[in-house]
Amino acid sequence: MATMNNTTTTTASSSLTSLSSHFRRSAKKNEINNSTKEATIFHQREETRQQHQQQRRRRRRSATTTNASAASGTKTAGEQLQLSALEQSELIDDTEDFPIDANTAFEPTIGIETHVQLQTKTKAFCGCRYSYGANANTQICPICMGHPGTYPKLSEEVVEKGVQIGVALNCKIREVSKFDRKQYFYPDLPKGYQISQFDEPLCEHGNIKVVLPVEEGGGEATIGITRAHLEEDAGKLNHVGGSGNVSTATHSLADYNRAGVALLEIVTEPDFKNGKEVSAYGQELRRIVRYLKASDGNLNEGSMRCDVNVSVKPVGRKRFGTKVEVKNMNSFNAMARAIDYEIERQEKLYKEGRGDEIVQETRTWDDQNQRTVTMRKKEGLADYRYFPEPDLNPLVCSQAYVANVRKEMPELPNEIRDRYKALGLPNGDVQVLVEDENLVRFYDEILSANSSRSSEEKEVNISKQAANWLTNDLLAFVKNEKLATPYDLKLNPEEIAEFCFLIENGEISGKIGKDILPELLLDGGSPRKLVEEKGLMQISDPKEIEKIVQKVLDMNPNQLEQYRSGKTKLKGFFVGACLRESGGRANPTLTDEILMQNLEE
Ligand SMILES: [Zn+2]
Repeated sequence: MATMNNTTTTTASSSLTSLSSHFRRSAKKNEINNSTKEATIFHQREETRQQHQQQRRRRRRSATTTNASAASGTKTAGEQLQLSALEQSELIDDTEDFPIDANTAFEPTIGIETHVQLQTKTKAFCGCRYSYGANANTQICPICMGHPGTYPKLSEEVVEKGVQIGVALNCKIREVSKFDRKQYFYPDLPKGYQISQFDEPLCEHGNIKVVLPVEEGGGEATIGITRAHLEEDAGKLNHVGGSGNVSTATHSLADYNRAGVALLEIVTEPDFKNGKEVSAYGQELRRIVRYLKASDGNLNEGSMRCDVNVSVKPVGRKRFGTKVEVKNMNSFNAMARAIDYEIERQEKLYKEGRGDEIVQETRTWDDQNQRTVTMRKKEGLADYRYFPEPDLNPLVCSQAYVANVRKEMPELPNEIRDRYKALGLPNGDVQVLVEDENLVRFYDEILSANSSRSSEEKEVNISKQAANWLTNDLLAFVKNEKLATPYDLKLNPEEIAEFCFLIENGEISGKIGKDILPELLLDGGSPRKLVEEKGLMQISDPKEIEKIVQKVLDMNPNQLEQYRSGKTKLKGFFVGACLRESGGRANPTLTDEILMQNLEE
C-alpha cells in the first residue's frame, strides 16, 4: 500500500509542477500560515460548531411553529445556504392571511441543484483517471478510498474548469474559498465523508440568461445562481436481483470508480415559473459546459444530474409551501413534465384541503406513467457536521488567475447568439445553430469561405441564405443519413458558400438550388460547375425574357383578354407560366417587370 500511495502522490505532485505562478504564491502563503494552521483550524471548527448550534436552535424554534418549517431540512451545503431566503420566510408566518379554498390562485417556487461532473484528466484529489463504464473498482487508489495516512491533493485542472463554469454563469469567483468535510455513512462512500465546500464556495452570486424555444413562444428568462461549489463524487451501488432498485434487490455491489471524481454543484435561486423554464435552463447549462469542454453533460451517464425542489403557495404569501424534491429525470423534457405535474399535484391537494398530505420527501419521475412517485420520505434532519477539511489549504484564486481563465475561454452560446442576431438571422435559425457547437463552427466556416471569395469577386452577403440552407435542407440530410456532424457531408463549407453565393447573386434561383441540392449532397463537387454543365444559369438577359413572355402571352390569349378586361389576379398565372417556360431559370424580378409591361399594353 505504501508503494501505491507513493506512486499516486508522485503523479499528483508532478501535475502540480505545472501550477501557475499565483498558485505557487498561494502555496508559499500557506506555508507561512502553516505554523498557525492548527490554531486557525481549531478556531474555524469552533466557529462552524457555533454556526451549527445556532442553526439547530433556529430550526427547533421554527419547527415548533408549523409543519411547513420542515422545509428547513437540509441535505446539501448548497441547499443549506440557499435556505437563507426560505428560512427568512419561515420566520414570517402569514399563512392565516392567505386562506386556501378551491379558487385560490397558487404560484410555484422552483429551485434546482445540478451536479456537473468535471471532465478532467484525474479525479479531484488523486491521480486516478475516471472513464464511464470501466470495470468496477479498477480506477481507485488509497487516496480516493480514504485509507489512513493518505492526503488529498487538489488538481489544478478541477479548479480551472470550476472557475470557467463560474465565470460563464456570471458568478463572482471567491479569492479565497475553502473545503469542508461533509460526513455521512452510505455504502457508496468509502471515506465516510465527502470533501465539499460549505460556507465559502468557489463561485457565488451569478446569473444565467435562458432562451425559451421559439416553438413555445420564445422569450428569455434570467435565473439567479446562488452558488457553485467544488466537491467530490461518491461511488455507485449496483442493485442486483428484484427489479434492480434498492428496495427489491437481493444485494448490491459497490463500484468505487466514481468516488472522488470532481463535481461542481450549481444551485439556483427559486426564479423559475414553470417546467419549461427549468428545461431551458438545464439545456443552456449543458450547452455552456459542453462549449467550455468542462463536462460532457451526458444526462444518461450521470455526468449532469439535476435535483429539483418544488413547492407551491398562494400568490403573494411570504411563507413557502412544503418543499418536495424530484429526482431521476433522464431528459430535460421529462424534467419539464415532472415539475408541471408536481405543481398541479400540490395545488390540487391544497385546494381539496389535503395540504397535510404534501410532505417533505424525495419523489422520482415515472416516465411510463407520466407522474411523480414517492421514492423516500425524509425522516428527521440530516446533520453532516461540516468542518473545514484539515488536509487541504484554503483555495486561493487571484483576480489575475480568474482574468486569465476568462481570457482563454471560447465564445459562449449567448455571445454567439448576439453575433448571429447582429447578422440579421431569424431567431429560429439562431437557436438551431447554437444547439450544436459543430454546426456553429461549420456555419462560421461557410461565412469565412464566402468573405475570402468576395475579395476577388463582387461582395455578396450570404449570412441569411447560408443559415437557412444549413438549418433546413442540409441538417435534415445530416439527420436522415445519420451523419455525426455536418463535416461528414460531401459538400464542404467552401462549396456550400459557393452554392449560397450563386443564389444570393441571382445566378440561379432558389428553386434551381433546391433542385440540384440532392445531387450535390450525394456526389459533392463545385455547385458552379454543376450549374454550368446543366445549363441552369439564371436567364437575366431582358431580350431572352421578352421572348419567353411573348410566347406565354401568345399561348394564352383567353387569359390575356380576361386580364385586360380587369381580372388582374391572373398576373400570378402568367408569372408561373413564364418561370415554367424558362425551366425555372428566368430571373423572377426581371420577368415580373417585363411581364407587366406586356400585360398592360
Ligand atoms: Zn484515486
